Amino acid sequence: MFKISKEFSFDMAHLLDGHDGKCQNLHGHTYKLQVEIADTLHQCGAKKAMVIDFADLKAVVKKAVLEPLDHAFIYDENSERESKIASLLQELNSKTFGVPFRTTAEEMARFIFNRLKYEEKLAVSSIRLWETPTSFCEYSE
Ligand SMILES: [Zn+2]
Repeated sequence: MFKISKEFSFDMAHLLDGHDGKCQNLHGHTYKLQVEIADTLHQCGAKKAMVIDFADLKAVVKKAVLEPLDHAFIYDENSERESKIASLLQELNSKTFGVPFRTTAEEMARFIFNRLKYEEKLAVSSIRLWETPTSFCEYSE
């Protein structure tokens, strides 16, 4: 078994409705994302002796995670307050992305894990998501 990982970065705005501190206000982060893949090696062909071609991993993460989330307002569709902000931004042709959960680093890490593993069929073993340079969440099954 081999593990490889690749790091990415994206910017995202959010707020945490109901938070008892400053995170209840609209703000943004430059997230660092580390995608770890655990698998055996390809036995033959162009990808021989690779877990996954780093270029292929980059293309999938770009399409499935970075393009929808980067420079978007990510909001909890179950929050009236967050949905109101999203509606206004949509009227103004600004990028939004709705999810059915509170947009903590923990839930975002699980969301990215599930999207890459179950929709994109990558052999993801863990996701690490840094919300700040000193704070990250790791999610694995
Ligand atoms: Zn935040």
